Amino acid sequence: MEPTDSAPATSNITVLRGEPLVVISDVDKHYGELHVLKKINAVVNRGEVVVVIGPSGSGKSTLCRAINRLETIDAGVITIDGVKLPAEGKALAKLRADVGMVFQAFNLFAHKTVLENVTLGPIKVRGLSKAEAEEKAMVLLERVGVANQAKKMPAQLSGGQQQRVAIARALAMDPKVILLDEPTSALDPEMINEVLEVMINLANDGMTMIVVTHEMGFARRAADRVIFMAEGEIVEETTPEQFFTNPQSTRAKDFLSKIL
Ligand code: ADP
Ligand code: MG
Repeated sequence: MEPTDSAPATSNITVLRGEPLVVISDVDKHYGELHVLKKINAVVNRGEVVVVIGPSGSGKSTLCRAINRLETIDAGVITIDGVKLPAEGKALAKLRADVGMVFQAFNLFAHKTVLENVTLGPIKVRGLSKAEAEEKAMVLLERVGVANQAKKMPAQLSGGQQQRVAIARALAMDPKVILLDEPTSALDPEMINEVLEVMINLANDGMTMIVVTHEMGFARRAADRVIFMAEGEIVEETTPEQFFTNPQSTRAKDFLSKIL
């Protein structure tokens, strides 16, 4: 996606595109006997939108979780903006704040209002005052189209609205990159588009994004690259156009024949 001229004033989205932001080098992981990530190498550049696609169980979520160290890895190195993932402590909290994460199941704090969901991180981790955090949160909630829900509890919102709150919550930390792991797969069909629209707008604004999704429409409209994973390996890495019209590997052809 090419950046648009007008980056929103509320974000710190950088205009420096193209340099490596997330670098994954020889990353290996087992769950017991299961070799879930096999020497994964990938680079996501600043401002890029990378779609990760692949059969269930291929290691996509594990890879996302490894990138903000919700999972440990057995071997290899992951760097975010040149900084190696720290093991723990304050440095890890800081790094996690640089990597926004949006999950399939929204994962909002159920006992906090929508507004509190979005202000909590900036107050705790970024040191914003309550007033600053609320002002910022309202701008972001407006941006994802749910500002009028700010006082409600998550359970009072539709799935699509909750997921848009989750995106606003991730953005509130001014992350350098955001990871979205199947953000629309738990949604009723009529709510998928409202979330995809928000994601497409983010991509247009120049946000660096790693998106696990099977939504081909999103990939074609927003992705710079598609990474196809199967059985813990990156099998293909190409443009969305190439991937969907002319997959090279048997595994990708098989996979596409099932989802398309
Ligand atoms: P995907 O997101 O591509 O569907 P996952 O990364 O969730 O794949 O899972 C990859 C494999 O690792 C699957 O076989 C899954 O069952 C297994 N797995 C995932 N998490 C765990 C865990 N915490 N412990 C053991 N096995 C796991
Ligand atoms: Mg998954």
